[in-house]
Amino acid sequence: MMNIIECKNLSIGYNDHLVLNNLNFKLEEGMYLSIVGNNGSGKSTLLKTILGLIKPLKGKISINVLKSSEIGYLPQINENMKEFPASAYEIVLSGCLNKCRFLPFYSKKQKEMVNNNIKKLKIEKLMKKSFNDLSGGEKQKVLLARALSATNKLLILDEPTNGLDAHSQKDLYSLIKKLNKEGITIILVSHDIHKSLENASHILHLDNKETFFGTVDEYVKTGKCEHFIGGCLND
Ligand code: ADP
Repeated sequence: MMNIIECKNLSIGYNDHLVLNNLNFKLEEGMYLSIVGNNGSGKSTLLKTILGLIKPLKGKISINVLKSSEIGYLPQINENMKEFPASAYEIVLSGCLNKCRFLPFYSKKQKEMVNNNIKKLKIEKLMKKSFNDLSGGEKQKVLLARALSATNKLLILDEPTNGLDAHSQKDLYSLIKKLNKEGITIILVSHDIHKSLENASHILHLDNKETFFGTVDEYVKTGKCEHFIGGCLND
């Protein structure tokens, strides 16, 4: 199996603020990694490091994709992102912007690929609507299609089900699982430990005392998940 990401003795953080020390993990092609940890444990900092937005303080991270534009990224939805003055289709299409470089138009091949992603996520009916008018769950699917249009390798999702109702959450989790089964490597930041155990193949639990990395089964054996509110073993 090819390594997509490899971290060796990696320390991450900001100029004078060490967030996590000595991270070691390998993300192999086809894995579904859920990153969990309490607020402030460094989940976003790790994502920023993987995306190349901040530099490691120490150690090494290698990312085995051709360019960072090959990573499909679904950011956390925040208030300013909720208003996009564009149609849902334009949003999905803009996922290939990175690939088009400076050309102000999309190739036929790119449009085909985008249309395939739209079909795959069954969101054809949304495409003509204004993005702003979509429900939270619909917006996330459109943004997922957009992220997919940037990659066929690695999808990074930051708390994608935040603010969604139970039905839309389930829907989105099963779509992500399907994409993973089709071969896309997944990194998902989540504070939902139950959903993480249900869906992921591997867990990275960030903790400044003792970070855990391993399979879901290994994780459950450590009992580390019981630190989360409500635990995870009894229900
Ligand atoms: P999480 O995503 O797990 O909630 P973060 O990665 O956002 O955690 O934060 C980890 C730590 O880094 C926190 O103590 C936070 O205050 C700090 N931090 C976050 N962003 C910055 C920044 N831009 N500069 C300095 N410290 C930061």
